Amino acid sequence: MTQRHLISIDDLDRHGIERILNRAESFAEVSGRAIKKVPALRGRTVVNLFYEASTRTSSSFELAAKRLSADVVSVRSVGSSVDKGESLKDTIQTLSAYDPAAIVIRSPHAGAAQLVAGWTSAAVINAGDGKHEHPTQALLDVFTLRRRLGQLDGARIWIVGDVLHSRVARSNILAFQRMGAEVTVAGPPTLIPREIEALGCRSMPTLEHLHEADVVYVLRMQHERMREAFVPSLREYAARYQISAARLNPGQLLMHPGPVNRGVELSADAIDSPQALIGDQVKAGVAVRMAVLYELLAGSRALAVAA
Ligand code: ASP
Repeated sequence: MTQRHLISIDDLDRHGIERILNRAESFAEVSGRAIKKVPALRGRTVVNLFYEASTRTSSSFELAAKRLSADVVSVRSVGSSVDKGESLKDTIQTLSAYDPAAIVIRSPHAGAAQLVAGWTSAAVINAGDGKHEHPTQALLDVFTLRRRLGQLDGARIWIVGDVLHSRVARSNILAFQRMGAEVTVAGPPTLIPREIEALGCRSMPTLEHLHEADVVYVLRMQHERMREAFVPSLREYAARYQISAARLNPGQLLMHPGPVNRGVELSADAIDSPQALIGDQVKAGVAVRMAVLYELLAGSRALAVAA
């Protein structure tokens, strides 16, 4: 079976993930050249449609498409009234007039990318849909870790913080496990969904056993998705769950998808510590998104899907 879109990490089995990562390695080499371009998507159009704030994801998708020589149209609609299925459908129909090969969509609504896939003949890439998934973030995180560790098999990865509101958590739990890692989520019980263990991970209400982790993956407090107080105060949250350099053991790797709330989930000394891979994650974004575009549009025409 094959897959034309990338909506969820569930669209990929381990082999499919590895194929993208291997392709990304060759594009990372292109990114190191003076002229960072290959003609793979010359004459094809990629539409980036961002209905929610983004710095890293939008800029790296744009650079990725340009480095593959595609024509790129970027539409940003922060604060627009496009919040109903019908009006999103109208937008997709309008943009379809450009005959795009791919539509990259970020939306505050879970399921938006899946809907778009039903309305267009373009390949659809989910760049984050509400609390649901952010598959290219997970792929670039696996890429970053694989480069550092060689492989993820047996690695103990702790995902710490606001799991409840995080699409990164969902995609990363799936991707890390598919690559052989053991995942633990940790944070205040109010920010850990009750059903999370159904994804195959462990859940911990404290950081007491954080020393067991090989990798500490910290999540942002997603204030924009909180309609009530999930923690008594940010000060108290920071006291119990903030990752500081002192809380990390030597040898533990530190990751964060960005943007970071400095002084809340991460202290400044942790961000700047040599254990932090945050800059490597951003750098990986371009090569990995080039690989996803390439595999969907020019590779063997489709990504392998999980059985
Ligand atoms: N940038 C990531 C996302 O779009 C993580 C975050 O916003 O905290 O989900």
